[in-house]
Amino acid sequence: MKYDLQIRNGCFHSKVCGSEEICQRLKWCFENLNVGRILMGWGIDSSSFAAVSTLVHEHGSELFLWLPVFADLEEIAATDNSMDFRGNSMHGVPVMEGENFLFGCPTSRRNQALPAELVDQYFDSTLIDGVFLDKVRNASFGNGFDSAMGCFCDECDEAYRKKGIDTAYIKNLMSKGDRHHFVPVTTDGFSYTFSDPMVDGFFRAKAENMTRSLQLVAERFRTIGLKVAFDTFAPFAAWFVGQDLPALAEEAAFIKPMLYRRCLLPAGMRFEFDSIVSELGGKACLDQMKCLLNTDDITGDPFFESQLALLSTLPNVSPGIEINVQSGCFCTPEYVKQSLQTVAEAGFDSAVLSWDVVSAPLEHLKTLARI
Ligand SMILES: [Zn+2]
Repeated sequence: MKYDLQIRNGCFHSKVCGSEEICQRLKWCFENLNVGRILMGWGIDSSSFAAVSTLVHEHGSELFLWLPVFADLEEIAATDNSMDFRGNSMHGVPVMEGENFLFGCPTSRRNQALPAELVDQYFDSTLIDGVFLDKVRNASFGNGFDSAMGCFCDECDEAYRKKGIDTAYIKNLMSKGDRHHFVPVTTDGFSYTFSDPMVDGFFRAKAENMTRSLQLVAERFRTIGLKVAFDTFAPFAAWFVGQDLPALAEEAAFIKPMLYRRCLLPAGMRFEFDSIVSELGGKACLDQMKCLLNTDDITGDPFFESQLALLSTLPNVSPGIEINVQSGCFCTPEYVKQSLQTVAEAGFDSAVLSWDVVSAPLEHLKTLARI
């Protein structure tokens, strides 16, 4: 199994590591690990990209620029914000510098065009082989119920209407305190169904709209010769944020479902599961989700293995395993080794070491040298 290496070199307005530090760690990885692709972003640092590009291509590997799509671009450009069903502009959830988890409208032409425009303006596309697109989703329940239901601006409203969704009906249900209409009743692993046919159609339309938006975003990159990959949620949480994983896996060079079991931040499995449950009605939702997912422990080994088994039915999947130690994420060498061993045993050709191999303890990487 090959390891795709994710490197967080900074955000648009901040730098967390430079060229020398990155190349030193990468050289160790090339010497000691079976390295696949390199995903680096989204600090604007041309000297790092030039040096890393040379090193990566000398080793016959590929370099992807890691870039957010529907959140965090407001740091550097004017974006169209999402509008919740009450007509309010959505709020973000600041997690770390440069990452506010403030989600923009996926239907907005401006938002769809922006990622490729930013690459053109701030990065050298001749140094990279592709783009690794993050925040390719609606807000999750971690942003609260109102935000998690997606955007209800005029353009999104129109997109729903075209698919036969009565948004006035949906908004009326949402405005009631009782949220049991939005608790799913069945699952095929990647999507959920809901007892109310209009709610069921709403979630399906939400995912179709996101897939279509991402196809348009991806198309702009392909026309300039770049491959496109997506960062996604774990299967159990993806449908709620508009991610149809089978459709996205077809579309992309690869997808990286974030199977983060030690990370207590957005995208972490525990964080997202607890947010779904707390926003959709507490105990009754908890019992239903446990039953649907057939687990008592969302971060336990059996559920992890079942999510991997599901993902192994899709093409182009490189599961993402976190390896860092920082506030809100407490990985140990044993956790890193055991998780990656399980991914290998599930039959995957690659896994992504997330989200920063440069700041990860070297002892975490050493445990992978023989897997
Ligand atoms: Zn919208």
